[in-house]
Amino acid sequence: MDEVLRFNELLAESTRRHDHLCPRQVIGVRMGMLAGKRLHLELPQTNKRLFTFIETDGCFADGVTVSTNCTLGHRTLRLFDYGKAATAFVDTETEQAVRIVPSHKLRALALQMLPDAKSHWHAQLAAYQQILDEIMFDVQWVTLDLSMAELISRHGVRVNCAACGEEIINEREVIVNGQPLCRACAGDSYYHPNLQASLVNTFETVLETNQSAIK
Ligand SMILES: [Zn+2]
Ligand SMILES: [Zn+2]
Repeated sequence: MDEVLRFNELLAESTRRHDHLCPRQVIGVRMGMLAGKRLHLELPQTNKRLFTFIETDGCFADGVTVSTNCTLGHRTLRLFDYGKAATAFVDTETEQAVRIVPSHKLRALALQMLPDAKSHWHAQLAAYQQILDEIMFDVQWVTLDLSMAELISRHGVRVNCAACGEEIINEREVIVNGQPLCRACAGDSYYHPNLQASLVNTFETVLETNQSAIK
């Protein structure tokens, strides 16, 4: 398919998912397309060959998702929340990895190109659709400091956490004193349960259920 046509189609799809079009989505869409060119992969992919490490969430991420078809659901997308509109694209067959980041001159360039635009936002939205790849992005070939095999793991492996009993898949358990623990129980948690509240809730739920059974 003609590249401009494909770009416009991808932008339309990104707009549909995101409810509007904004400059960062344009960056995301173009970044994914550039990754396809550099890695010689047909994108958006219909398989799981390309794996994407995205370095921020938000508008930009939707653009990358649309142009690559890498998603959480396909297990081909991972977020490292560095707060950067950068992405590393990995060809899991060749293990080649390319990290693409927008040029730091991009905002200034947009204003230079379109000084009469209604706002900075409008200048960026239009300019980011026109600037050449070579000027728009910095591209670096990188080597991953993590194991793709471990990250992808094996289908169907599961174990229950020895502490909370919850099921753990994809070999994400941590072995402590010979026991498999989930990361949360092993101390690497982003939450803690409100014990008091959950006990009360459970008790009240039981009471309510009993009462409605009696009625
Ligand atoms: Zn947006
Ligand atoms: Zn646990």
